[in-house]
Amino acid sequence: MTGRPPFLTSPLLEAAGVPHLFTTRYFPRLERAANGGWPFGPAARALLGERGLLQDPPAFARQVHGAEVAEARAGGSVGRADALISDRPGLPLAVFTADCLPIVLFDPTGRRLAVAHAGWRGTAQSVARVAAEALTRAGAPRERLLAAIGPSIGPCCYEVDLPVIQRLGSAFPGAWPAWVTPAGPGKWMLDLWKVNEEQLRSAGVDPSRIDNPRLCTACRLDLFFSYRREGRGGSLATVAAVPVSS
Ligand SMILES: [Zn+2]
Repeated sequence: MTGRPPFLTSPLLEAAGVPHLFTTRYFPRLERAANGGWPFGPAARALLGERGLLQDPPAFARQVHGAEVAEARAGGSVGRADALISDRPGLPLAVFTADCLPIVLFDPTGRRLAVAHAGWRGTAQSVARVAAEALTRAGAPRERLLAAIGPSIGPCCYEVDLPVIQRLGSAFPGAWPAWVTPAGPGKWMLDLWKVNEEQLRSAGVDPSRIDNPRLCTACRLDLFFSYRREGRGGSLATVAAVPVSS
């Protein structure tokens, strides 16, 4: 991928008619309101409008690296949560990341959408599985669910230490060794993509319906922001909405 695209899209979500985007570092500056307001500036709004993501102000959460799912009924903050779910056509749901995984889930049958934010802490709490199960509990046939993982840190760059491994080990005894590669004393490379894909599959999502372009935020500083590589700086937004029926 070359050039300076302001955002990327998922072919899987595109084919299902889901308005969405994953921003890059060339997206106009995200102006996050402190308190429930509109988090995007005018230039960002123009691009969101092009993508059909301007019917309402986006709903977003105060992300706390947990696994709570909040139902969004209107734009603005839904409070503390790391996943949002909605069946309201045209209501954009947003999560913000810089290395953590943004995950979009769509139920084309019930026309419900979920977005989730999964770093290692959220992954240890199975936020991806919890978000998928929120959709199936609302009636989604699990085999019809679509999932898209956005740009996030890959196993090439995500070095973790013992406390992370201990948390994963207690959450998923026996499973975690398949997700890591030893990288020296007390260090491992963790494949959060693999863990989250497994969580989606364990919630019943068909593997052929999980889109992961495997774009690493830390490798691709030409396109993305990376907390690991750059520290606190910009963040990437993932925004998606249930399609408005025509
Ligand atoms: Zn990488």
